[in-house]
Amino acid sequence: MSDIIQLLPDHIANQIAAGEVIQRPASAVKELLENAVDAGATEIQLIVNDAGKALVQVIDNGKGMSETDARMAFERHATSKIKNIDDLFHIKTMGFRGEALASIAAVAQVEIKTKTADAITGTYIEIENSAVKKQEPIAWQQGTSIAMKNLFFNVPARRNFLKSNASELRYIIDEFIRVAMAFPDIFFSLNSNGQQVFHLEKGSIKQRIVQILGNNYTAKLVNIKEETDYMNIYGFVGKPETAKKTRGDQYIFVNSRFIKSAYLNHAIMNAFDQMIARDSFPMYTLFIDLDPSQVDINVHPTKQEIKFEDEKIVYAFVQSAVKHALAQFSITPALDFELDAGIQQLDAINKPFTEEKKSTAAASSLYSTFTQKHQAHFVEKKSELKHWKDFYEPAPDKSFASLTEQHGIKTAEQGNEDSSHATAPLHHPAAAGSPFTIHGQVHFSYIIAQHDSGLLLIHQQNAHERILYERFIKATDGKPIATQQSLFPSTLQLTATDSVILNELLPDLHALGYHLEPFGNNAFVIQGTPADVLQGNEKNAIEKMLEQYKHFSTDLKYSKREKLLRSLAWQQSVKAGTSLTQKEMQALVDDLFQCASPNSTPNGKPTYTEFKKTELDKMFGR
Ligand code: ADP
Ligand code: MG
Repeated sequence: MSDIIQLLPDHIANQIAAGEVIQRPASAVKELLENAVDAGATEIQLIVNDAGKALVQVIDNGKGMSETDARMAFERHATSKIKNIDDLFHIKTMGFRGEALASIAAVAQVEIKTKTADAITGTYIEIENSAVKKQEPIAWQQGTSIAMKNLFFNVPARRNFLKSNASELRYIIDEFIRVAMAFPDIFFSLNSNGQQVFHLEKGSIKQRIVQILGNNYTAKLVNIKEETDYMNIYGFVGKPETAKKTRGDQYIFVNSRFIKSAYLNHAIMNAFDQMIARDSFPMYTLFIDLDPSQVDINVHPTKQEIKFEDEKIVYAFVQSAVKHALAQFSITPALDFELDAGIQQLDAINKPFTEEKKSTAAASSLYSTFTQKHQAHFVEKKSELKHWKDFYEPAPDKSFASLTEQHGIKTAEQGNEDSSHATAPLHHPAAAGSPFTIHGQVHFSYIIAQHDSGLLLIHQQNAHERILYERFIKATDGKPIATQQSLFPSTLQLTATDSVILNELLPDLHALGYHLEPFGNNAFVIQGTPADVLQGNEKNAIEKMLEQYKHFSTDLKYSKREKLLRSLAWQQSVKAGTSLTQKEMQALVDDLFQCASPNSTPNGKPTYTEFKKTELDKMFGR
């Protein structure tokens, strides 16, 4: 029996390792931008072609590299940022693992131009498959340019795995924004296929937010600033009225590093509690600075999760800082802060921050120093809340009612338009031509309907999702939905990311009755919407759809169109908990059983349960 184990050749080992760090063009964007920041650059340009698949180039005016360093930089584990294991706990730079450039060189063709301040000539190096192909002195200004060309040219399987240009560009823009947002005192620009996407002059955090997220945030930002010995927090949150139906404009940076934290997001959302509608998302750009030894940064380089030494303190701190700021800026005179212990119970549901955790945190001296100051804001007067909440609750969506109107369904029973009661009177004759008799609504969520052979219990939201979904499929199959022209076309201002998504969806949306026109600078004019979308409610409907679409977009198994149809069906469906009129229920049940697959929602949830008369009889011994 012969020996079978062999060492992988270097270039293959490198390619495998590279897969961890460079998954797509956007990963290279992140690494190259971070290197430029670490090099002390004050101006950083990002150039991409073909959504980064052909070219990702970052040009900086940082400290540059010597000739030897420029060669060394592409070796695996080559870094200037840590020297021993101790350094790992005091990291102040963005990189430290020395893997990025080596990884890029393993899976792309790389050209580097660099010069330090005191060198006379610069260095030019070409690398392919981890090997230096060419090296020569060149004239170059101080700083570094690294160009990554033809990503995965030598790993076709991975190249095929990349998504459409629109999607890849979206990832790139996301990464770009995360770095640009974190360093407002650095100039950043982004060029895509020769077109300028961003040009961000140096400025304050506030200016950077407005540059990136749009002018509609001017004068709508609330400043956050709290300092303690343990940690500082600063930045801005959007005033409640700027909250959107789409998540997205939410950034947390810990020691200048973008992080994702459901935990801290929850803390912030809690601070906004009652000020914004449940399904909307406030803008926030928050910077948390604390001793690097209190943060476990040694997580995987491409992951953005983070571990705090003391999570509870950070949670309480963030929540109270945001609450305090919102209160201080006195968003509305109607909100009267008063001590009231009752409030504490208000939404104890769903909180990761349980009472038990709260008391442990409260026992800490840090917590008490900063909460005392803001005690008053921890508790709001209950009676005011109703008012406050109503104020922000969007006007009830009448789309369902108008939808049935549109169908022109006539019910035999006309006298029962009052939708304020939970269940309709006990008996109604079936609507003319319908095999179903509606016996009312239960818990504002279920409809009881009778037909010849038994009884149906129908879930109104699930049923409506199915109906809309099938209607939308027909629409995109060549039977477009009628559009009602907007009387006063409104503009929709999106983030760069959302605008890329929306652009992709425009043709399908058109078939679905949404006429949107790109208006430059991530703005769209809403020319028309389906007849059942309330005038004045168009923006809201589109923002909600986008949010839902993004929710689906991690799901690879669906096509763009499929995701859009599902998102819209969900978004426009009448929600459980909504009171329905007799007429509406009748239309809903009739429509459901006109569907090709009435049994379940597009996502497979049941729409109704049937109790056959024979079964009922059996149940009761008849
Ligand atoms: P890391 O950033 O983790 O150290 P990288 O592979 O990203 O690893 O970079 C390796 C080294 O190359 C860095 O430590 C730095 O010394 C040098 N380097 C990379 N990019 C630049 C740049 N734009 N300007 C100056 N030096 C750079
Ligand atoms: Mg790096």
